[in-house]
Amino acid sequence: MNSIFTDIAREYGSPVFIYDGNRIVENYNRFKDAFHVPDLKIHYACKALNNINILKLFKSLGSGLDCVSQGEVHMGLKAGFAPEDIIYTPNGVSLSEYESVIEKGCRITLDNLSILEKFGVSHPDYPIHIRINPHLMAGGNRNISVGHIDSKFGISIHQLPHILRLVKNLGINVEGIHVHTGSDIIDKDVFLRVADMIFGIAEQFDTIKSIDLGSGFKIKYKANDLYTDITKLGASFSDAFNAFSERLGRPLTLRFEPGKFMVSDAGYFVSQVNVIKQTTACTFVGINSGFNHLIRPMFYGSYHQIENISNPEGEKKLYSVVGNICETDTFAEDRLISEVREQDLLVFKNAGAYCFTMASNYNSRLRPPEVLIKDGGYSLIRKRESYDDLLRGQVEIDI
Ligand SMILES: *Cc1c(COP(=O)(O)O)cnc(C)c1O
Repeated sequence: MNSIFTDIAREYGSPVFIYDGNRIVENYNRFKDAFHVPDLKIHYACKALNNINILKLFKSLGSGLDCVSQGEVHMGLKAGFAPEDIIYTPNGVSLSEYESVIEKGCRITLDNLSILEKFGVSHPDYPIHIRINPHLMAGGNRNISVGHIDSKFGISIHQLPHILRLVKNLGINVEGIHVHTGSDIIDKDVFLRVADMIFGIAEQFDTIKSIDLGSGFKIKYKANDLYTDITKLGASFSDAFNAFSERLGRPLTLRFEPGKFMVSDAGYFVSQVNVIKQTTACTFVGINSGFNHLIRPMFYGSYHQIENISNPEGEKKLYSVVGNICETDTFAEDRLISEVREQDLLVFKNAGAYCFTMASNYNSRLRPPEVLIKDGGYSLIRKRESYDDLLRGQVEIDI
């Protein structure tokens, strides 16, 4: 891949995000093939990476979408997804926001009792999913664990009697139970325990047609990382799911909403070295990017593997890789990287999920272009921003 990265950086400049479309297809198929159930529906969580071409690629694979905002729903419909293949799973939005999404015919997930009651009064017949918080801590990072007791996500499992009372009295059409435990599920047994709790809840609703187990599948960022073995998890889970469906006496749709699993390792971020600076303590590598382009290391403390593609055989040396934003802006500390020289190109791995979509114009810096590699060739799928983009939407008044 290194030579194609170099070609792309030469053609479109750096920094640049590059996505390997074939890898996305492989990830999708590996996920799909892991589950042996009569009706599996994968809803790609497009907040991970939402370029319209990526959305179209998922559509071509037969995927649906998981959206968390009206903007994402808009993009999904633009990309050609059928409304019933879009599931809207936001957090803390108003009734009117749900109403504008159901007008389009999308599926929705409600995640609090207040909206459940209001929605039940005004739209009892529209099928909904209910998001449950099972209070199981699954997740590698406090910021992305959404199952704990004080989480803002979902309706507490302890409030099930309240849910049942609303559903019964208002005649709400509950088509599915949803749970998204948060990122970084490693332990297959934790996942099976969550699933068991959800089955127990689902069987209390006579209108149930689907179970949505969200996502949180962990992928590798470095060689020895633990990760979700989806094939193994899928095999044991499918048995449990099919047994539940049989016990219930009717077929159920199984839904998932993977984001990171699908696109993280298909993404690369290529940046150029501006400055090498020695201090009394370390050697800094200053690149032509900053946390405004790739915020995960600063925001979550995430690890992204970095390689020097301009000098891959160079002697390994210890570096701290930093960005150009005018405050602390560290991509990596104390990394062994092949000897780095000014002008070299560095590639960051796992730059597919939550990288471009979290990028900003902080420091009035432009967001990078995106390029998609597919079947040996590559295409520009988003231009580098221009200075005009920085002023777009601003209204100049007489001062
Ligand atoms: C973010 C999100 C996902 C995707 O999570 P990943 O860890 O990227 O797979 C799925 N479902 C919901 C409701 C989400 O908010």
